Amino acid sequence: MPFRISRNKSPYFPKQLFFRFVLQQVLGIVPAVGIVAVCAHLYLIGVLPEAAKQIDRALIFLVIASATIVAAISLWTGYRLVLPLGRILVKARSIQHRDYSAREEETAAVEEPSEWSDLETTLHKIGREMQSKDRSLSREREQVEVVMSALTEAVAAVDKAGTMLFYNSQFALLFGPGRQDARLSDFIRSPDVLEAFRETLKDGSARQISTQLRLKGEAVSRHFALSIAPLRQENDQLYGAIGVFHDLTELRRMDQVRIDFVANVSHELRTPLTAIKGYAETLKEDIPAGDPSRKFLETIERNTDRLIALVHDLLNLSSLESGAEIEREQVQLAELTSRVLGQLESVRAAKRHEISVKIGTPVLCADPKRVEQVLYNLVENAIKYVPAEGKIDVNWEIAEGAARLHVIDNGPGIPSEHHSRVFERFYRVDSARSRDQGGTGLGLAIVKHIMQRHGGNVSVSSGSGGKGTHFTCSFPLDR
Ligand code: ADP
Repeated sequence: MPFRISRNKSPYFPKQLFFRFVLQQVLGIVPAVGIVAVCAHLYLIGVLPEAAKQIDRALIFLVIASATIVAAISLWTGYRLVLPLGRILVKARSIQHRDYSAREEETAAVEEPSEWSDLETTLHKIGREMQSKDRSLSREREQVEVVMSALTEAVAAVDKAGTMLFYNSQFALLFGPGRQDARLSDFIRSPDVLEAFRETLKDGSARQISTQLRLKGEAVSRHFALSIAPLRQENDQLYGAIGVFHDLTELRRMDQVRIDFVANVSHELRTPLTAIKGYAETLKEDIPAGDPSRKFLETIERNTDRLIALVHDLLNLSSLESGAEIEREQVQLAELTSRVLGQLESVRAAKRHEISVKIGTPVLCADPKRVEQVLYNLVENAIKYVPAEGKIDVNWEIAEGAARLHVIDNGPGIPSEHHSRVFERFYRVDSARSRDQGGTGLGLAIVKHIMQRHGGNVSVSSGSGGKGTHFTCSFPLDR
């Protein structure tokens, strides 16, 4: 197939390669022509010495003509050979600079099938793939940016050196705009926050903290729940951390309003309820036994007692929720246990329960009144819900770095589907039974709060076959 010069002019011509090629051709062919000419000259002079002049002239003409033809062919071949390279270089550079404006027909300028055109076509395909990847990447980036700016949470990511990688508009709104190469510490000074980021960058694990931050121009601090997660490359190498700041200030305020409201209502109810109870008792004294109105007064008295217990429990919960201080001291567990059992002795005796006590650890550093409340609520529940002549075990022991209280009974048990909810306020497994027993539905919620305030926890499990209930309270020893 004949060579054809492309109509599309290459914007780049590889001159160096072209001249080197031509020079090599000339340097290779011209001496060969010269040698052939000299040999021909020597031979012809020997054969026809009388025509020496004409032979010389003819040979000179032949040398000049063949040198011109060789030079022309070299120039032409060189030009055709290096021209596509120029196009390919231009194409490669445009791909490098993410310039995908060249169309396919422009790039497929070498029309004869050759390695050059294969290379050019391959390069074009690579360019097209990169272009589509770039497009989908920028689409994804746009989507992420839209999601980030729509988030009500402030989000910021830092690299391993603590320099900001990105942050969303909410972050800029809360902590102010910063320079391109700003560091997290330029926005937030809180040592807790900076330390949490540092830890994640060091060990690569996610963590959550709650913190208070004072924003510029605001008189009071805001409460934030901060979740930090590591950022990893595809090969799992850690390259930064991302933090989501969830502003809890309004939630906390609403919670406080609720706690205050419940506390105020309970407080207001306490005085009239005590008065009603007092009057009912006084009236009852004047009415002889067997009189039907005595029954009404007893009902009033019983219900008032329930309301007083409810108000008492609500006040207790409010004080725990509002963060009243835990007053820790050395609690003598044997003494505390016998005091609680003494308070419950009349109800225990009425149901003829057998209570056995094991004190495996003598003292506990905790708030004595709160520990007493925990034990009271658990043993009272056991006495309430275990049928007459049941068995109740109260054990104190040290296990796995914690002082543990076990209250175990052989009553009807709590079905396992209720275990996760039984510590919620007013959650009753059997509402009718609980109300009959005078329960407020708050006893276990109070136990859970007290345990949390001590940095511990409470759990429930059932005995074999779902019979019997086992409550375990763990007080961590390191506090
Ligand atoms: P209540 O005042 O109703 O007893 P609690 O919060 O103390 O409220 O207990 C929640 C529910 O858990 C109770 O209503 C009862 O159904 C169940 N419960 C608690 N302790 C026991 C137990 N020892 N045996 C069986 N059920 C129990």
